[in-house]
Amino acid sequence: MTSGLQLRPGIPICQTDLPLDWYQDEFRPYAEEYLALPDRTPETVLPWLDSYVRPAQDHFGDSLLLLAHYYMGGEIVKLVERYGGTVADSYALALQATRQPEKKIIVESAVHFMAESIALLAREDQQTWITNPKAGCTMEMMAKDHMVLPVADQLLERYGDDLVCVAYMNTSGRLKALAGRTGGAVCTSSNAHQVVEWALKQGSKVMFVPDAHLGANTAHRLGLDPSRVVRLADAERTRGAFPLDDDHVEGGLAALDQAQMILWGAYCGVHTVFTPEHVHWWQERNWRVIVHPESRLEVVQAADGSGSTKYLWDQMLTAPAGSRLVIGTEGHFVRNAREVGRSRGVEIMHLADIPDANFGTAGCGCATMSRNDPPHLAGILDLLRKGCAPDANRVLAGDAVDEITGSRERLDATERLQLTREARSALERMIAVVEHGA
Ligand code: SF4
Repeated sequence: MTSGLQLRPGIPICQTDLPLDWYQDEFRPYAEEYLALPDRTPETVLPWLDSYVRPAQDHFGDSLLLLAHYYMGGEIVKLVERYGGTVADSYALALQATRQPEKKIIVESAVHFMAESIALLAREDQQTWITNPKAGCTMEMMAKDHMVLPVADQLLERYGDDLVCVAYMNTSGRLKALAGRTGGAVCTSSNAHQVVEWALKQGSKVMFVPDAHLGANTAHRLGLDPSRVVRLADAERTRGAFPLDDDHVEGGLAALDQAQMILWGAYCGVHTVFTPEHVHWWQERNWRVIVHPESRLEVVQAADGSGSTKYLWDQMLTAPAGSRLVIGTEGHFVRNAREVGRSRGVEIMHLADIPDANFGTAGCGCATMSRNDPPHLAGILDLLRKGCAPDANRVLAGDAVDEITGSRERLDATERLQLTREARSALERMIAVVEHGA
């Protein structure tokens, strides 16, 4: 499926230029050339980009696969599609390698957990590369393995086999492996309710990582008693592992012992700016409001509908001409949806873009994902063609990345095999639950 987005002549690419010292050494020459271009219009950028992308395509032929996520800003979505690549949500991206075994070099413009999910499912002869290793998901960055695993160990010690972990797709392979080890599964925003419902039948307690809001929305959708849904300490505050005690558990240890769902305390800054007041403002003016379930529970309850990235895109695509739709999710996605919606006679607005001074917040894009820009795309393809792409951009299952410094801790081959087995089992359970009900 293509997004229907097009690069339009004369209209500059919206990406803000990144500072030169933001680039890895190997990518700096490409950034210098890009920054020296007279403007950012497609007429200027495309010939420059073509001079690197086309030779790489000729070199790798059909074995090259370019991927991007819907949230990518700066027209990368359009550029990747222009070169025959695929744009999708994180779940569909993860399946690209297995579904296309003829693709051997997979280059992803998105965040690290998405590239790692591709690597987890890839075959031995498929390589996964990320255009910028510093592109991370801030929610996932609040649930690194060194933060979550010591807490999970304490929970396992307390509850044993009664505890099952459900890992949202926005996690590292190390947490997906935790889900696999505990008999749990991975989930996405579209199937979290099915996976958690299944997991509650496997054990009496579900540890849900990392998104506290998706967890709370899922518990509400399943009709769980709110007093039996307990949130652990705010991960933005702890920034590390913590002892399982009354200070780090909402409601204390007594509530924890009664809980059916235990929510890790991470969240997405992009989706938590929304309030019920935003929703009501638009509804009072006869707009239909739909939101992503990484938003707060009260926002989801106030909205007219909620669902995954694919759900939101499909709502735009199927809305009758003349409809007015407000979308509460990532800013670049809404900008792209507005463009395609306009061509169909559907008016689209971003939930937080309210023309009223009483509302201080404006809708924002996923800034970390947008660390992938045209110089990164040109650079990685050129370096791969020359056979000298930096190892830091190679993505292997189990890599633990620090997106601030770009540093990476890599497992040895035996550890990686074990982790891949465990994480895959969690992914396969999700597929089994969604496709076969168990
Ligand atoms: S929008 Fe939020 S959850 Fe999605 S990748 Fe960006 S930081 Fe992560």
